Amino acid sequence: MQDAQDIRALRRQMVAELTVSGIQTPELDGRVLLAHVLGCAPGEIILHDESPVEPDVFSQAMALLVRRISGEPVARILGHREFWSLDFNLSPDTLVPRPDTETVVELALEAFPDREAPLRILDLGTGSGAILAALLVERPRATGIGVDLAEGAARMARHNLGLAGVTDRVALVVGSWAQCLTGGFDLVVSNPPYIQRSDLPVLPWEVRAYDPELALDGGDDGLDAYRAISADLPRLLKPGAVAVLELGIGQEGDVADLLEQAGLQVCRPARADLSGIARAIRADRPRQGPPAMTK
Ligand code: GLN
Repeated sequence: MQDAQDIRALRRQMVAELTVSGIQTPELDGRVLLAHVLGCAPGEIILHDESPVEPDVFSQAMALLVRRISGEPVARILGHREFWSLDFNLSPDTLVPRPDTETVVELALEAFPDREAPLRILDLGTGSGAILAALLVERPRATGIGVDLAEGAARMARHNLGLAGVTDRVALVVGSWAQCLTGGFDLVVSNPPYIQRSDLPVLPWEVRAYDPELALDGGDDGLDAYRAISADLPRLLKPGAVAVLELGIGQEGDVADLLEQAGLQVCRPARADLSGIARAIRADRPRQGPPAMTK
């Protein structure tokens, strides 16, 4: 790439390179990456348009451009991603939070419309802590536990819950699902791994190469995590309490069956995401009825 005369020219060159490389959102990505190098917000880049390009800005911009063209997602390059208007740092142990997952937050908040409710919340497979942080911010008297099998994820979740300003209301635990927990929760949420193992090799490159397999691999039929979680829900949920789980494409029926087999009341239909895909399912532990199953 030729030396650019000014920042505007550099940005245009970056966008052109991203375009010919087949990147879907070249304008946005070019702007965001260059803003990162300049240390400004993407919307402020215009203020630098006439500035000369310092050599280290040029070389840093080229390095980020090469990473993006080789398929690394912008969020991984920047090391953070916005979710529910909060900022989440990322590590190799965490998924990049997806907008689809905001469906889980919406459904959980609707189940508990009282902002002042002193809820006890459990997030199984918390990853970056995105769901738990959003819920604790929206319900300021709630407390939460986040569990993750990956220690690196639990550490990152703790950091992110700090950024969200809710550290004093949360505990992070390294463990397998709810094995180490007894119960008493008002709300259990999870975005578990739900990709069928045979589909892992055909996931988009940005997912396959950069998201942790532990957070994606749902076993042979994609339902392993739902089996583990639904078996524990009757013990974890208080009578009348609620579970909200994220779903993979086409999993509503199978997951509803698992939840019903565990004695929970499933609310159908599941909540769709912005693409119209059934994305979040709610199941309630009945207030009355047979005592909770124990393992
Ligand atoms: N939503 C992610 C994807 O489609 C998968 C995340 C998960 O398995 N929970 O790539």
